[in-house]
Amino acid sequence: MDLPPPSSGRPLVVFDRVEVKYSETVALDGVSFEVQKGEFVFFVGRTGAGKSTILKVISREVQHTGGRALLDGRELGEVRPREVPHLRRQMGIVPQDFALLPSKRVWENVAYAMRAIGASSREVRRKVPEILERVSIGHRADAFPHQLSGGEQQRVAIARALINNPLLLLADEPTGNLDPEHSIEIMELLAQLNVRGTTVLVASHDMLVVERMDKRVIRLESGRIVEAEEEAGLA
Ligand code: ADP
Repeated sequence: MDLPPPSSGRPLVVFDRVEVKYSETVALDGVSFEVQKGEFVFFVGRTGAGKSTILKVISREVQHTGGRALLDGRELGEVRPREVPHLRRQMGIVPQDFALLPSKRVWENVAYAMRAIGASSREVRRKVPEILERVSIGHRADAFPHQLSGGEQQRVAIARALINNPLLLLADEPTGNLDPEHSIEIMELLAQLNVRGTTVLVASHDMLVVERMDKRVIRLESGRIVEAEEEAGLA
């Protein structure tokens, strides 16, 4: 799938009265918001509020059943199944459980993801060290995942998500398996990447961390937005 060039002024993500129903359950009930390129947005709310579903609509893991959901001007509902892998390559997806390959070293985990999209050995050799440095894990390049702390493993997962210069990073509870100290470090890393230009969308129910970060917050309750604030550290 070819998205139009991202240079125009249109929002990167537009949700317009988006509805998602999983058989009987209404997971999103008329959700509308826009995200501009370069923003950092938290989706917050209790378990079951609909945070993950929003990210899954964007990554096309889930198809919305009503309303409009656009990524860089393209209606996600019109993306054909065979175009979905291409669509996902334009996103960096950071899972809660890191999902690293246990038998591969840190650098190999990142290299593997690059090779999977057809990068040459030369590109891999050039880019892997650079990305590992960017997330401050270069010094553990030869370690295996089990030799790393949770926070370090999440840095590797973020490095892996960054290899294709994604249009945006999607992180679903990226600190869900981390202690408070590592949670703050990981959010600060995401904020740094955002300062360098990456649009970042994070689902989190960890209000302590969210409030510390002082970013835009979209709050969900039972599939609806109840409060949407700009720079909402003051909540
Ligand atoms: P959150 O990320 O805020 O915890 P979710 O987006 O995961 O919320 O879930 C929103 C609602 O949709 C919940 O009621 C949840 O039980 C339901 N739900 C999520 N995924 C599925 C699914 N695959 N099948 C059926 N119901 C689901």
